Amino acid sequence: MRSTSDAQTSHSGETDGAQIEGLIVDGSRGQYRVETAEGIVVCTIRGRLRKQLIYPVSTNAHRRVKSVKVGEKDPVAVGDRVRLLPTGGGAGVIEAVVARAGGAFTRDDPDDGGGTLTTVAGLDQLVLVFAARDPEPHPRLLDRLLVLAEAQELVAVVCLNKVDLDVAPALEARLAVYRRVGYPIILASATDGRGLDELRARLAGRVSAFVGASGVGKTSLLNALQPELGQRVGAVGASTHKGRHTTTGTRLFPLAGPAGGYIADTAGIQALALGAGTRRQLDRCFREFQPFLGACRLTDCTHVHEPDCAVRAAVRAGEIDAARYDSYHRLATDGSAASAEDWGDIV
Ligand code: GDP
Ligand code: ZN
Repeated sequence: MRSTSDAQTSHSGETDGAQIEGLIVDGSRGQYRVETAEGIVVCTIRGRLRKQLIYPVSTNAHRRVKSVKVGEKDPVAVGDRVRLLPTGGGAGVIEAVVARAGGAFTRDDPDDGGGTLTTVAGLDQLVLVFAARDPEPHPRLLDRLLVLAEAQELVAVVCLNKVDLDVAPALEARLAVYRRVGYPIILASATDGRGLDELRARLAGRVSAFVGASGVGKTSLLNALQPELGQRVGAVGASTHKGRHTTTGTRLFPLAGPAGGYIADTAGIQALALGAGTRRQLDRCFREFQPFLGACRLTDCTHVHEPDCAVRAAVRAGEIDAARYDSYHRLATDGSAASAEDWGDIV
């Protein structure tokens, strides 16, 4: 049903009522594939909107225009929800951004006069995949990935795959620590199907990426969830490796099921890691530190060597797990909490 105000607000003779909403699932540099209720629409972006997004209104707008190289930046990104005007034959024009992707983040862009720019969009969730064995799980890697997720304000889900191969008691104990901290832990097996329903429920309605060391079973899990999904996600990641500094090549693969949801390809994740302007301080990325953070003697306590540190007191008292604190300590003192190199072998 079209209202009269819709018809009147139109500038171009077309009514807003003719516009539809969709999600950008693929694209770069002016051509975007948008999934809508009516199927995929290949869109360009309205020039006026492109300008608005690239040069946000500001007093030094014309200075920015000089310093930004037009055509090198995508004003919209995979994962953005947009309003578009279909122009027939499966084509259309993006007229407005309705919502930025949940996992979108901005970083300071040196080319942009100090403004911020959305560089990677699309993710709300990281699924951190480990194997019960073969390869052996590394809690230290888990902590680094959790920091990355927390720093970007992404939901983190831990998935322990290959539980058909026996979970060692020591591993059970480690997992209990993460469960207490509040992370969902899914015990899964791509081989016998355990945990897949739970995983599916966690993925529903979200834009997720699977990360974890090579061989843990990411491809197998995705294939078990949905035929060929693993190959598709993996294949795209491999072929777009060199495009990973930008959103170019980032793609989202739709999940079957009423709630929808998407899996992002690996290029998107690598771009995420590279763009990781940390939004949260490191100590805020360790959830279980939260209750103690205000209680250190020094307000700028790094919880490494300062006197009367409430975090270290909590570790001594057994309220914070010592191995988790040890991960914190390493990250706090080596400074490469989420460097791009970490991502080479885990996506
Ligand atoms: P990826 O590198 O993380 O994508 O891992 P793959 O999906 O390629 O799996 C690596 C190996 O682990 C393959 O030989 C799989 O058959 C095997 N694998 C994957 N999932 C499971 C599982 O749940 N149980 C067992 N026993 N093996 C698995
Ligand atoms: Zn402290």
